[in-house]
Amino acid sequence: MIPLILPSTSDAVSPFVTRLGAVTWDDSRDARLMSDAGGTALYSGDFGLFTIERPQAMSLEGDIVLVDPRAGRAERLIRAGSGHNTLLVTERCDQLCVMCSQPPKKTHEDRFAAFTDACLLAPDSSVIGISGGEPTLFKADLLELLETVLGQRPDLAFHILSNGQHFEQGDVERLRQPCYQRVQWGIPVYSADHASHDQIVAKEGALARLEKSFCHLLAAGARIELRTVLLSDNYNDLPRLARYVVTRLPFIEHWSIMQLENAGFAKNRWDALYVDHQQDFAPLGQALDHAILSGLDVRLFNVPRCSVPQEYRPYAMASISDWKRRYAPTCAPCHERDQCGGFFEWHPRDADLKVVPL
Ligand code: SF4
Repeated sequence: MIPLILPSTSDAVSPFVTRLGAVTWDDSRDARLMSDAGGTALYSGDFGLFTIERPQAMSLEGDIVLVDPRAGRAERLIRAGSGHNTLLVTERCDQLCVMCSQPPKKTHEDRFAAFTDACLLAPDSSVIGISGGEPTLFKADLLELLETVLGQRPDLAFHILSNGQHFEQGDVERLRQPCYQRVQWGIPVYSADHASHDQIVAKEGALARLEKSFCHLLAAGARIELRTVLLSDNYNDLPRLARYVVTRLPFIEHWSIMQLENAGFAKNRWDALYVDHQQDFAPLGQALDHAILSGLDVRLFNVPRCSVPQEYRPYAMASISDWKRRYAPTCAPCHERDQCGGFFEWHPRDADLKVVPL
């Protein structure tokens, strides 16, 4: 796993965001590499001298970090050269999904100013992820971040994970601004059945409220990625969900159907929640067929390519972020490894036994 938090020392009195480099760019928020020995890099910038410890083979060149002197750490907010940078803007949420990989907390630390600074320094044409918790619980701060960054950096784009519970009629005009065409909202729908969806997210009336939000987002011309996690509770109902998506939500950009991540709440509930699509591909195959025949852009996430029947492999994406992706030892001879997302670092190892190199 790629470490995102590294030990750091600094004389600064408060946290600061800076971009690391061997050369100095034309920005006062850049820090220049002064020396690099024994796994400790020494940097100098407008915030003074600071050090970051990191494994010898790891390059930090161009990374944008949040250095917290009191905590003695540097957080790699945006890694140069990675297409998987995600900013966690809050750990609060108003849902409690049974499989949540990032279980919510009651506390909230406002880091929007630091995130704004980091985004403004991002590499050219980056797509930056935003997640939580539920980012739209802090909608005013979130929209301000987006408008500030996109106003100054027209080359950037954002992908935001949201439960879609907080969009209102009053947001429509604002979301119609051209800069929001560089924002895609990733919103989950787990079932076409209200009771089932509400039970999965542990919130009564959640799907009804989500449908209202979809109306506002449609009116705003928002770009939407629909997301569905495979669960034992919704698996057999997937064909019905596909019909719901095709008939009720044809304006979405993509439908991403994803396998469960063995993290957060799902870790302790794995046996009850996990459904092995290799054992019975039919419900998933029927849902995919319906979406494909209807012209919907459907994708399969978090599934090894060799676990999917050949005709559906073009829909299987290498979706697992680089910092939490692994392959089984038996994957070595596989010709499709570059196109395959492999496994989550924390996926049960017995799944490796089913790997069949292509
Ligand atoms: S053998 Fe490994 S790399 Fe190849 S498709 Fe299967 S999981 Fe992916």
